[in-house]
Amino acid sequence: MNTVTPHGLHHVTAIADDPQANVDFWTRVLGLRLVKQTVNFDAPDTYHLYYGDEAGRPSSLLTFFPWKGVPRGRQGVGMTTATAFSVPEHSLGWWRERLVGHGVDADAPRSRDGEDVLTFRDPDGMVIDLVAAPGDTRSGWDGVASIPSEHAVRGLHAVTLSERLLEPSAQMLTDLLGMELGGEDGDRARFTMAGGPPGALVDLAGGTGMRGLQAGGTVHHVAFRAPDLETMTRWQQELLDAGVGVTDIRDRQYFKSIYFREPGGVLFEIATDEPGFATDEPLLELGRSLRLPPWLEPSRAQIAAALPPLQLDHDEQQAPVEQQA
Ligand code: ZN
Repeated sequence: MNTVTPHGLHHVTAIADDPQANVDFWTRVLGLRLVKQTVNFDAPDTYHLYYGDEAGRPSSLLTFFPWKGVPRGRQGVGMTTATAFSVPEHSLGWWRERLVGHGVDADAPRSRDGEDVLTFRDPDGMVIDLVAAPGDTRSGWDGVASIPSEHAVRGLHAVTLSERLLEPSAQMLTDLLGMELGGEDGDRARFTMAGGPPGALVDLAGGTGMRGLQAGGTVHHVAFRAPDLETMTRWQQELLDAGVGVTDIRDRQYFKSIYFREPGGVLFEIATDEPGFATDEPLLELGRSLRLPPWLEPSRAQIAAALPPLQLDHDEQQAPVEQQA
């Protein structure tokens, strides 16, 4: 039995095709802030783009490896099949109108397991749920003029993992990761961290179809929060003691990480809250230029030359998104 418990989702990382389309959608349409423009440290010829709230706080973060020309993946069992963000309680109608106005095919909000949910896909086909979550005290990012702060996306809400067998995955979530079973409804079960506020929820859904294929528009991994390196190190030891194949501790510059797979095949990460995104550029400047970790700085010219240029909207606070070219 573990002694360390996570206090929420840290980030979700997915695979995208065109980086420009990715930036445009997630900043201009959904209104997240691009908080870091860097590269995949394990493959520095591709971007790693981080989106979140004003400061890129843990639990607000969605990150992408945009890889131009990547084939479209396939949703299926053994993967994260939906990523949910929380929005204020009465905002789903407003969001549906906004998404449809931007040419996004968004179904009417529906009720699922006692929550109102608006489901749509991003330009790469990634399945996104906006969930009306009363009592989410996070403020989100209010840097896009056409999104009133009363409707702004607050942060991550939950992830849905599709599994052929629920039991082994459920057992890892509770016995090794210290989550609690929050409720069951047919072939869905909800697990909570830290009492289960928005951003601290994992849903397991039973699936019978084909295994998913990880490529464009699919989630690469889900990361959970550890407050600091000491806690994460203890956690790593407990996972090792339980026979889980955990990686060594990786330096991700903005947090430290370990990785392992849950029994159904989904890649999990545990990431520290520290040091965060203002460690190598000021808060006001987050995401505006390419940042590299010290060990890649010597190759900056080569790395930058291989990346497609990104057009960012530095003026997004002045002009509504619909009026921009
Ligand atoms: Zn990660």
